[in-house]
Amino acid sequence: MTTGLEGNGRNFPAPDYDYFVDCPIEIGTQKDFTFHVDGIPHVLSISGAGDWNADTLIRDMSKIITTERNFWGEYPYKRYVFLVHCTPRSGGGTEHINSTILGTSPFIFKNPDSYKGFLNLVAHEYFHTWNVKQLRPKGLVPYDYTRENYCRELWIAEGTTSYYDNLMLVRAGFTTPEKYLEGAAASIQSDRQRPGNRVQPLVESSFDAWIKFWREREQSFNLESDYYGKGANISALLDLDIRHRSANKHSLDDVMRSMYKRFPLSGGGYTLADFQGVAEEFAGNSLQHFFNEYVFGTAPLPWEEYLGYAGLKLAKKDSLAKPWIGIATTDAGDRTRVAQVIPGSPAYEAGIDLGDEILALNGYRVRSSDLAERISRLAEGEVVTLTLFQRDHLRECKLKVAHAPVPAYLIVKNSEPTTLQRDIYKGWLGAPLDTGTGSR
Ligand SMILES: [Zn+2]
Repeated sequence: MTTGLEGNGRNFPAPDYDYFVDCPIEIGTQKDFTFHVDGIPHVLSISGAGDWNADTLIRDMSKIITTERNFWGEYPYKRYVFLVHCTPRSGGGTEHINSTILGTSPFIFKNPDSYKGFLNLVAHEYFHTWNVKQLRPKGLVPYDYTRENYCRELWIAEGTTSYYDNLMLVRAGFTTPEKYLEGAAASIQSDRQRPGNRVQPLVESSFDAWIKFWREREQSFNLESDYYGKGANISALLDLDIRHRSANKHSLDDVMRSMYKRFPLSGGGYTLADFQGVAEEFAGNSLQHFFNEYVFGTAPLPWEEYLGYAGLKLAKKDSLAKPWIGIATTDAGDRTRVAQVIPGSPAYEAGIDLGDEILALNGYRVRSSDLAERISRLAEGEVVTLTLFQRDHLRECKLKVAHAPVPAYLIVKNSEPTTLQRDIYKGWLGAPLDTGTGSR
């Protein structure tokens, strides 16, 4: 039996109901490995077979534990349990008061990329030990188990945690700043590709998580923002902004640490105004414009400007724009259906709708697996015919191929950075800003 509850093997007392239900209890054939970091016991509990190696996991988890403990300044527990579930096709995790459940496919541990994905999950869930399990939005304190608990701060609880899970892997030495910037460039592209990020403010996607984010509909991509991804992006911008405004004396790290000290769990949680106030203290001036535009509003995120604070530039990855018609499809059995139509795209203008069944492109059957490939071989401006069933009505739509409005990006280093830009880069990513090399 494995649990975060303290006990003597027969009795497992908990101070209150909240604590009790926040301590998963695993009873089974899992293998437990106890290791110590700073003299504090941690348990790696793995259920299920896989190509994992306990020594490697303990070595790498210890690095994450140390890095995150150094970030926050203390351990908020006396013992911690990682419950790893190796189950086919599983993923994702859940944070708890002094434990976490981590789902993973069993045979990912020997592949460097997928293993890094697993360590990213460890870094994310473990970061929640402070951000969420201790430092908690007011709307989640006390937690009411009988109904939905609404709050506008999930973008901080989840988005800021998502921002730091990647950074923690850089700081723990699992990845390089250059690799980190490649990931950041990809997330800038996804942010700009999601029309919903320009429709629904982050505070609303946080608040409506119960009825929207976790009940994904066909139109979610077009109408809703993603408080994880966009929340992470806004956290990155806020970090760069504070570093810039304070001449690199302060950062979002200081904000999070200060929030953690000032809003202990026993105090009833924090509000968005509290968070903004603490961020302003470290920035040294008002962030009202920032919050109005990007948190309460849906203004496009000014990456070009903010990356400049760290001596970086956003560039297009490919010199040629990709041919594009603006739909995504999924296959169910032998049918290919439209799952996404980007507003304003050629497909949208041609009246193609969600759920339409795509039959052929230029007279030949097309499926999800080859649609993108066949479109990529067309030329911009070319007119193509898409044959489809729309609510059982056979239609032939003529579309003019355009180019993808959002390119793939590359973050490159400025050739002549200022001292402040160098300092910000080093403070942020922990390595000197080597000039002249790109992030490739
Ligand atoms: Zn999370």
